[in-house]
Amino acid sequence: MRQFLRSTLGIAMLASLALWAAGLSDVVGHMYWNNVFKLANRPVNQPVVVISLDDIAQLGTEHEARLLNLVRREMPKRVFFDARIPAGTDVSGDRDLRDAVHSFGRDVSFIVRAAKPDRFDRAMFSFPPKAIVGDSRILVSAWNSNFLYRVESAPYSVNIDGARFSTVSTALSDRSSGWQSVYYPDFTLDPTSIRRVSSADIFAHRLEPGALTGKSVILSTSGQAPFMGYFGHEMVEPVAFDIAGAEALRRPISLNITFIPLLALVIVGMRLIARLRARRARLLAYSAVLAMMLLLPFMARSYGVVTYPDVPLLVLGIFGAIRLWQLRTRRIQHTSLSGLPNLVALSSQPLGVGRDVVVVVVARFEEMLATLPRDLHGEFSRQIARRLSVGSGSNEIFHGEGGHFAWTEEARPLEMQLGHLEGLRALFSAPLQIGPHTFDTNIHFGLDRNEGGDASTRVNSALASANEALGNGRSIELFESQRLAEAPWELSLHARIEEGLRNGEIWMAYQPQWDFGENRISGAEALIRWNHPTRGPIAPDAFILQAERAGRIDTLTYWVLEQAIAAALELNALGPRFQMSINLSAQMVDKADLVTNFAEIVRRRGIDPTLLTVEVTETSSVRNRPAACHNLTQLRAMGFRLSIDDFGTGEASLAYLSELPSDELKLDRRFIGRLLTSDRDRAIVTSTIGLAHALNQSVVAEGIEDAATFAVLRDLGCDHAQGYYLGKPQPFTIFIEDYRRTRDPARGVV
Ligand code: C2E
Ligand code: CA
Ligand code: CA
Repeated sequence: MRQFLRSTLGIAMLASLALWAAGLSDVVGHMYWNNVFKLANRPVNQPVVVISLDDIAQLGTEHEARLLNLVRREMPKRVFFDARIPAGTDVSGDRDLRDAVHSFGRDVSFIVRAAKPDRFDRAMFSFPPKAIVGDSRILVSAWNSNFLYRVESAPYSVNIDGARFSTVSTALSDRSSGWQSVYYPDFTLDPTSIRRVSSADIFAHRLEPGALTGKSVILSTSGQAPFMGYFGHEMVEPVAFDIAGAEALRRPISLNITFIPLLALVIVGMRLIARLRARRARLLAYSAVLAMMLLLPFMARSYGVVTYPDVPLLVLGIFGAIRLWQLRTRRIQHTSLSGLPNLVALSSQPLGVGRDVVVVVVARFEEMLATLPRDLHGEFSRQIARRLSVGSGSNEIFHGEGGHFAWTEEARPLEMQLGHLEGLRALFSAPLQIGPHTFDTNIHFGLDRNEGGDASTRVNSALASANEALGNGRSIELFESQRLAEAPWELSLHARIEEGLRNGEIWMAYQPQWDFGENRISGAEALIRWNHPTRGPIAPDAFILQAERAGRIDTLTYWVLEQAIAAALELNALGPRFQMSINLSAQMVDKADLVTNFAEIVRRRGIDPTLLTVEVTETSSVRNRPAACHNLTQLRAMGFRLSIDDFGTGEASLAYLSELPSDELKLDRRFIGRLLTSDRDRAIVTSTIGLAHALNQSVVAEGIEDAATFAVLRDLGCDHAQGYYLGKPQPFTIFIEDYRRTRDPARGVV
């Protein structure tokens, strides 16, 4: 039951019942009946004739007496006198009228009308003078109405000052009681079709013979019933109500069963509909129930059974409205491509405190889609979402336009969060397999840590940051205002870096590089490390990103260069040529004083620059490309070797090659990691080696973790190898000791 009340149908029902209790469902009822009775119009075929008294109404009791006598001669079944009796001015007229009434005996009755609906107290009725009507029957015409004074029902009889009076309709229909205390007039009767005769015709003897014979004749002052409306019509003559009431009472039953049976029908119907699977079928069935609610009350009414469609129609209406709204928001909140909820959905939900908003943008998403048949598009997005879900631990991944995916996750300390996202990024280095298609994907993150902001702003911030990351080739961008919040950490970063450099928290690790041709360790890559006293080891990507942000990357770069040169000098002193690689941040390449500073350091240290390799990644984050090209060309001219790092992962691998004067390509480790398993990656590696050689470049494969990969690369003609298999990045003291050992003739070469 509770579950039902929480369902859409349950809510619709509760809301409708509340409207009903507040009396507001009457509006629906009113509209329904008014329209139904406007459409259904049938003529009166009761043996009733109304004689309009308007033309003689002013003329006094004498005329009324004459008229009554003339009518009696036509032998009506009975006469209802429904007009004011102006007694007291014409004594003989009064007497004539009293005699005329008397000679009618039981066959004349007098009608008194309640001046207003719903009020049946003595003050509402003006009774005819007893002196004239004597013991003749008095009938009342009294009505219950709705909130717009449309007549709805009437009592069979009315109690006035302790005396009980029957109503006119009961007298007209010869039925004085029913199962309930009220009956419901039949408003399908067209009030204009009531047979009418004017009193003037009777005085002039223009009446068709037999026109009144055996009929019920109502002598009535015409005019409209004040405050009383007839469904489907505006104001009508008061007798119309009496006749419509009599029409209803001519049927075997007159019974009000309320809205409850119809409501029950709606509930049962809707619950059955909920089981239908096809949306079309559900819509059709819903329409059928709706049509039933519109037809049934009307049809029942023609059998004398009164039932109201107002509450059932409200239930259906509210239900339909909720469903439409749900459909619309579902449509707005879901990406049709993947069926995943979209960013609008994420923006419209409360994000909660302590949550980061993460947006991922998949590089070249549209291009990849373009290579897939349409029916796999959704699957492509869903697979990405699944992978993100697994990696992020978030159950709900939202999917925006053009390769954007978003979710929220618990806010961790920044370095942890960056590390976590890097891990997630690594998860994407495995290709996506969609049907027979394989895709390498590269993702960029936008992160909003601006806790407390509203959801849509935060989603937009993260989105903008993700696009920025995509644009500048960085893996992660933080939203701007967050940078402000991180300011204490960033502002003090300089001090911390200085401190870290001074006390040895920041240090260089060296990873060996193997020369396939010479079968020996012939070089190393210098990789920076930071063991933060409280934050623990900070991933170099993360703090280099921070240092770039804080504008502190120069300090680090020159420090790294100094360290690497010192190491290179020491290693070269051991004998054979030893090549040292350092990484140059994209933020640094276009710096105006880069070349002079490098030149100064090299001169001061007295090292041959050809022993140094500068690794640059192919990113578009370089702001001033011409300046970068100029710098790199100059460095090369000075003797530095130039290496393109992470070759194959960026956006412009080949373009970069043609633009930059490089000496070496470093094949990214994601190709190497899959060399043994993926034919595609093997093909890429093979052809890249061929391409590099054709362009006079040497090739370094990085990320070699096992002997088999190592062997394959040797067979493919790769020049140099780097990876955990050959040696992990190590502090210099350990590195040089290992290096010495491999050079130790007593131990032989690896
Ligand atoms: P990178 O230049 O591509 O450096 C290679 C990364 O691969 C290093 O990560 C290294 O530890 C890791 N690696 C080496 N062999 C293997 C292997 O067999 N398997 C696996 N799974 N990984 C391997 P690390 O040291 O965390 O450096 C990450 C990135 O940080 C570097 O990527 C580089 O872009 C940047 N970085 C490191 N040191 C410096 C630096 O002194 N200056 C600048 N500007 N960037 C640096
Ligand atoms: Ca590198
Ligand atoms: Ca690399």
